[in-house]
Amino acid sequence: MTGAEQLIERLERERRLSLSEYEALILAGRGETGADLRAAAAARAARVRDENYGNRVFVRGIVEFTNICQNDCYYCGIRRSNQEVARYRLTGDDILRCCEAGYGLGMRTFVLQGGEDGWYDDDRMAAIVRRVKGEFPDCAVTLSLGERSRDSYQRLFDAGADRYLLRHETADRAHYRKLHPASMSWEHRMACLCVLRGIGYAVGLGMMVGSPFQTARDLAEDLKLIETFQPDMCGIGPFIPHRDTPFRDQPAGTLEETLYLLSLIRLLCPDVLLPATTALGTIDPRGREKGVAAGANVVMPNLSPGRVRHQYELYDNKICMDDEPVMCRNCLDLRMRTVGCRIVVDRGDRRRADSAERKQTETEPE
Ligand code: SF4
Repeated sequence: MTGAEQLIERLERERRLSLSEYEALILAGRGETGADLRAAAAARAARVRDENYGNRVFVRGIVEFTNICQNDCYYCGIRRSNQEVARYRLTGDDILRCCEAGYGLGMRTFVLQGGEDGWYDDDRMAAIVRRVKGEFPDCAVTLSLGERSRDSYQRLFDAGADRYLLRHETADRAHYRKLHPASMSWEHRMACLCVLRGIGYAVGLGMMVGSPFQTARDLAEDLKLIETFQPDMCGIGPFIPHRDTPFRDQPAGTLEETLYLLSLIRLLCPDVLLPATTALGTIDPRGREKGVAAGANVVMPNLSPGRVRHQYELYDNKICMDDEPVMCRNCLDLRMRTVGCRIVVDRGDRRRADSAERKQTETEPE
């Protein structure tokens, strides 16, 4: 066993490494010489995923309800400064219709995602959450609305929201500064994550792999953060440049490194809910299947109305822009089966590692 393979073995056993060890693992997994190591990590990660969740893949239906954002993140296609994008907001009725379609297709989690759009103040947003929870009491509502105040997070939680996704983007302060304008702060992002957890949300964080200026050390810091924070969800995908952003000429992140990071995250956080993201499917036609084979257990099809999908393009060439939800659901089901997994009708809550043995005795709806 090589030194790097020993580190992976220890990562699975102890679920922690030092920052330098994470960095060494990331460097060892790069390029052609890292192929065997990446394959070994993926095999371990898929086994760990199976031990915790079986071969079941959870589905989250995403409703992208506003592409208006007060922020100007340098990597984002709907950033405030992009004049090329037509802006839209969905009504509560629009959102309900999207959820109805998803429910009929077996989705039991709805992710309400948007830019930081002040029009959706606490009253409006809480009313939307209450309506979705009232109509679909057996479903989880995940919010992905960016940074808000403690009171706002609390009000939305009290309205019934179950989970919150807030990507940290990078665990390194200096790197964060290179990806965001001075009006945004790494410290505030981290504070929001802690507030969300304190309120009682299931919390998701995550980062882009291969974002501009990212070093192996930065990724090591991301892994250290995941190790210490122990998120309920972790959304990672490759950086993909958008034509109307300052990063338009930057190279994209790679499929190989994103898959490898998915595997390492599964090993250090065995019961985390880990999506094979749409961005992964965008850089490789079988990216999502490969993500699941590398340890992921969540997919996130788009429920947004067809008329607005092209206006929510965070990066170039996003896939599934013209597919009806039913097509996406069936397509994902077939894709998952090619890697020995299956989509289930389930809220897909985090199952703590110590209750994994229950999976053997439960029956799952198809
Ligand atoms: S990444 Fe999020 S916060 Fe940043 S500009 Fe895009 S939508 Fe707004």
